[in-house]
Amino acid sequence: MSSESKFGEYGGQYVPEALMPAIEELTDAYERYVLDNEDGFMDEFRERLRDFGGRPTPLQRADRLSERYDREVYLKREDLLHGGAHKLNNALGQVLLAKYMGKERIVAETGAGQHGTATAMACAYLDVDCEIYMGRTDINRQRPNVFRMRIHDAAVNPVDIGSGTLKEAINETMRDWATNVEDTHYVIGSVVGPHPFPRMVRDFQSVISEEAREQIREKAGRLPDSVVACAGGGSNTMGAFHEFVGDDEVDLVAVEAGGSALTIDEEEGLAPHSASLSTGDDGVLHGARTKLLQNPDGQILESHSVSAGLDYSGVGPELAYLADEGRVTPVNVGDDAALEAFHRLSKTEGIIPALESSHALAYLEEHPDELGDLVVVNVSGRGDKDLDTVIEESEKRDLDAAPSMEVFEGEQ
Ligand SMILES: *Cc1c(COP(=O)(O)O)cnc(C)c1O
Repeated sequence: MSSESKFGEYGGQYVPEALMPAIEELTDAYERYVLDNEDGFMDEFRERLRDFGGRPTPLQRADRLSERYDREVYLKREDLLHGGAHKLNNALGQVLLAKYMGKERIVAETGAGQHGTATAMACAYLDVDCEIYMGRTDINRQRPNVFRMRIHDAAVNPVDIGSGTLKEAINETMRDWATNVEDTHYVIGSVVGPHPFPRMVRDFQSVISEEAREQIREKAGRLPDSVVACAGGGSNTMGAFHEFVGDDEVDLVAVEAGGSALTIDEEEGLAPHSASLSTGDDGVLHGARTKLLQNPDGQILESHSVSAGLDYSGVGPELAYLADEGRVTPVNVGDDAALEAFHRLSKTEGIIPALESSHALAYLEEHPDELGDLVVVNVSGRGDKDLDTVIEESEKRDLDAAPSMEVFEGEQ
């Protein structure tokens, strides 16, 4: 089966000449193994997601939230996937594909460290060498994930260029891939980058909506009125949406990080948010045309979110296309609302959600009536990784919802 490189105007392969051989080889492998299931690739992928990853993940009725909003609310529990987030679906798919392609070495970028950790985990499981590029700034603020990657025997390569964050790490990883294409595959972390990555990552993540569509029919007897998912690059988003795109009666709501305000500071090259789908302009980043946070000269603005996983200046090209078509509704919620949603789910349902996923839950709190009577929220990951941030940010804001973190008297 052949595959389109574009979604309307978006997507494509805007890459330097040196990367084209790698991209062509990968496109061929994607079409053969993923689309045509050559050598039973997709069967093996599914089996390993089940045995190693713990799929299917549950679709759970949230009793307190259902009562609170006076409608049926179901949670797709990707926080229960091995590793604590949806990221393993993609990492496992790509590392397995690399093995089918005869590659012995994996490179990947990571920002907060979640994708690096998932990739290192998949490489350890499938016995493949693994090197992760990570910005120096991110290394300094995400220590535990650096150790996690090393514990899985991955090498972590610091990137000192620019601001030392995700954007630079992606550039470095692409450079490594172009140089070492012979034996190396690049495991990109979201539905971004040049074709075939956005399609391929979506196909690996689509297991979320394949399961959810069946599960909600079984439990509620019908399709949902809406599916809500947070969007950084948009891989949990496209994963949660894909199987519902053809169901016109199901609203698909992508919740971006509104950060502290929806403004931009052109002078400083900063946006205090990451709402590229809601507020961005068309441009090219990391090999694809999509919606971006940029200044009028096309320089990429640095984004912000309290949630590291949503802190990205671009968004997957398919989401940009579906938003333009009116099929996906882009919305956003700010840092404060996300923090409150984090505490609410933890207290009332016994689930500590990732700060990323808390954005989807915060939208439900702010606009329940927009979502209809039967709502599925994708809980993309668990929030254990976010505890330090949540404690600090909740104290800073004096959040009523936050429990006291003061040490008990007499304790050291
Ligand atoms: C990385 C991450 C995200 C954001 O990535 P997408 O590609 O937008 O899905 C969301 N939730 C969790 C838990 C993550 O770790």
